[in-house]
Amino acid sequence: MAEKTDVLKVMAFATNMMMESQPPEFRWRGAPLAKHWGRISDAIEQGAPVNWTSFCGSPEIFRAMGIPSIMQDEVGLFCAMFPGKLNEKYIDIAHEHLVADHVCSAQKIMIGATLCGDMPPPTMIVHAGQPCDSTLVTYSAISQYLGVPLLTLDIPGGRDERVVQYVADELERMVAFIEEHTGRKLEDDKLKEVMEYSNAAHDYSLKVNELTKLVPCPLPRMLATPLMDSAGTPEALEMYRNLYEIGRAVVEIGKGYVPNQKIRAGLFSTWVSADVPLFDWLEQEFGVMVINTMLGTDTTRPTEDLSSRRKIMEGLARKQLNAPMGRECWASIDHWFDYAVSTCREWKLDVVLMTLHIGCKNMWAVQKLFRDKIADELGIPVLIVEVDFFDGRVFSSEGIRAHISDFFNTMMA
Ligand code: SF4
Repeated sequence: MAEKTDVLKVMAFATNMMMESQPPEFRWRGAPLAKHWGRISDAIEQGAPVNWTSFCGSPEIFRAMGIPSIMQDEVGLFCAMFPGKLNEKYIDIAHEHLVADHVCSAQKIMIGATLCGDMPPPTMIVHAGQPCDSTLVTYSAISQYLGVPLLTLDIPGGRDERVVQYVADELERMVAFIEEHTGRKLEDDKLKEVMEYSNAAHDYSLKVNELTKLVPCPLPRMLATPLMDSAGTPEALEMYRNLYEIGRAVVEIGKGYVPNQKIRAGLFSTWVSADVPLFDWLEQEFGVMVINTMLGTDTTRPTEDLSSRRKIMEGLARKQLNAPMGRECWASIDHWFDYAVSTCREWKLDVVLMTLHIGCKNMWAVQKLFRDKIADELGIPVLIVEVDFFDGRVFSSEGIRAHISDFFNTMMA
């Protein structure tokens, strides 16, 4: 019998420790995560409602209703990053219960933690139909197993106004569902206040994007944006505002944030959470700076019209359709390819890194088309390297680094 771990307490403790380990003037960097997990931990202790979600949610609505949401991928990420190898424990438990090898390891971690009782059941599971079929399948299975209510937002392909209206309807259906299952009401004043914080943070995140297009890049790489779960909070706004001010100051000095920026890379897929220093190694070894990333570059526009709940829902629908990971992995590959091509141009990228995570079958299916498209339209090389985002045992760090070394040694020879 495996030793019991209160995984949510581990998350709250570790993210708080990450924030506290910074000098006081830099604690804003870790504050969104630490406060997010602190709220989850408090809600569990008080018996208050807690939701489970996937990437691509609308955290603003949950924030306005005072209901914290646990994003399965974030649990997977931290279980793999923190000492103790909780990711391996939970993945093994999921496999023992016949969860298939090829299911995304983020979901296996959540399933394993739930099956062994380390993760308490949520009040409900409310998640978007994005970013992939793996999420759809596992959340419906796990809600049945736990006997908790499930709502999956139907997110069609396409981005036109008809789709925006449809997704706005889905968000209204979601609000009614949450109200029914938690007894909490969505108040319009509170929603507007949260949206003002969200808008201001997204405004700064777009300005940060503009800074990262400069050569040399004046900001450090960003592998995951806190807006995915903290949009609408004061701490997310403070983080982006400070990031922008730092970037501006570095531009004025006329230097890059990281010295030796020889090659500008885009990462339009996942990374390797079990090997956090991988990108430091890439910088030091080859002068490769990862400038634009799938999970760290948020291209969402603020919701301009906050005059009514419907207008806010429409703004959140647009945001939902453009959410990181959904933007790349959901619906039409034409959207993704167009986004990738224009991103390479705007960010002046020299190379694209395409990590093929074992769960992202959509990416496996189009890898050759993707590489050909980028090569044909831009003449930029694409490095395709197999990884498991959350399980370092599937592809070793040594093997991944050897593959990357071969590519850059050849490219720069
Ligand atoms: S990493 Fe891939 S498989 Fe896993 S949730 Fe994201 S899109 Fe789905």
